[in-house]
Amino acid sequence: HAREEGWGNMVIFNEGMLERAMNLMHIEMDLYRALDMGEFFLTYQPIVNIGCRTITGFEALVRWRHPERGTVSPAEFIPVSEGTGQILSIGKWVLYEACRDMARWRSEFPEFEDMVVNVNLSARQLSQPGMVDQVADVLRETGLPARCLRLEVTETMLMGNPEFANMALRRLKEIGVKLCIDDFGTGYSSLSYLQAFPIDTLKVDRSFVSKMSREPGNFKIVQAVVALAHSLGLEVVAEGVEEEEQRIMLSELRCEGGQGFLFSRPVRAEDVPALVFGGTAPDSLKGVA
Ligand code: C2E
Ligand code: MG
Ligand code: MG
Ligand code: MG
Repeated sequence: HAREEGWGNMVIFNEGMLERAMNLMHIEMDLYRALDMGEFFLTYQPIVNIGCRTITGFEALVRWRHPERGTVSPAEFIPVSEGTGQILSIGKWVLYEACRDMARWRSEFPEFEDMVVNVNLSARQLSQPGMVDQVADVLRETGLPARCLRLEVTETMLMGNPEFANMALRRLKEIGVKLCIDDFGTGYSSLSYLQAFPIDTLKVDRSFVSKMSREPGNFKIVQAVVALAHSLGLEVVAEGVEEEEQRIMLSELRCEGGQGFLFSRPVRAEDVPALVFGGTAPDSLKGVA
């Protein structure tokens, strides 16, 4: 069409693009009331010892129960909320809720004594001036020991301004929380920064793990990441473990932890204790995502 109409009337939007733009706009507007209306909820996915499948902690993953759309994935609304800054209040809610849940499980069940809850941070949160105080306040208010919280950041977040990020991470480390790099291998972290950041865990991205049993190249990447992490004194958690074959390969590589549908899908908070007591994912626990 653009050609027929001539350059003066060039069509820059097609209908699909317009629809996507409208969709994003609606998400953005609906997000403004979502927190107040209590539309967010957390799901928890276990992180296990890859060798024996024992649960060592959980990653908190936010969901949005939209009144008309049903459950909206964070992959859809987190990027929008990062653009508008809404992620700051959503992220604060997630942090508080996750710490409160873990503190409650710890007070109810001795099995949770050494459990860790992982919370994803966004770039905006990490560069927020009051971030360290916010984390310290939440820990104090919920009574969760700092060692039971692990904050997940991505390589991309760190490499935009590595000096600043390093400073922010150091201050978080000082209050005693654990730190990990999420989706490792998909960003562009410089290896020299990797050893400078005060992190304790690398999470190998799902894209490598899911193909490691079929593609030798991906197996070698995972092998190299595990070796690199260990030589820097870091632990490794493999994301997106779906097959027993992957679990065995990872365990042979001496990868410490695993997370993925093989062990359990993310489940609602009320189903978390049963996962810990029953080993991993009984079939009756379908998960919600
Ligand atoms: P992520 O932090 O890398 O989380 C892991 C994602 O992989 C989760 O998707 C999880 O459900 C999915 N997953 C886990 N195991 C498997 C598997 O075996 N196979 C497959 N195919 N997928 C698996 P989810 O919950 O949709 O979250 C997507 C992303 O949204 C997260 O990726 C994270 O970047 C972001 N996100 C989620 N919750 C939050 C939050 O509270 N704050 C922030 N800033 N980001 C969040
Ligand atoms: Mg994560
Ligand atoms: Mg991840
Ligand atoms: Mg990922």
